[in-house]
Amino acid sequence: MDSCLFCKIVAGEIPAKQVYADDDLVVIEDINPVAPVHLLVIPRKHTVNCLDLTEDEDRVIGKVFRVAARIAGEKGIAEPGFRVVSNNNAGAGQSVFHIHFHLLGGRNLTWPPG
Ligand code: 5GP
Ligand code: ZN
Repeated sequence: MDSCLFCKIVAGEIPAKQVYADDDLVVIEDINPVAPVHLLVIPRKHTVNCLDLTEDEDRVIGKVFRVAARIAGEKGIAEPGFRVVSNNNAGAGQSVFHIHFHLLGGRNLTWPPG
């Protein structure tokens, strides 16, 4: 999608600190981290958010969590714990309308979130 920030990052047209990439996903450091570890797991295919998913995305969304867990282990945050979250629409805090999953950890994460 031409005007989409994360499509441009995924395509390498806008620079980002990349942590991992494969044919389905790109993982980058968030530009404005809210935790010591704050990564974004971004499916390459443009989808607006969870409301926009079809069965075609089932495999990739499963992979999001598997890759996030592996990276959490590599970053040393699997214990005591980490969070994988997706904000869906503006009222939930979504500001970039290309589906992505925040991988957060490295500090005590309170619940419920704001
Ligand atoms: P959302 O608010 O949609 O859930 O999450 C979007 C995230 O993207 C925010 O945490 C924001 O800091 C991050 N972000 C916005 N623009 C950029 C950018 O140009 N590069 C990177 N690496 N992160 C960005
Ligand atoms: Zn996009």
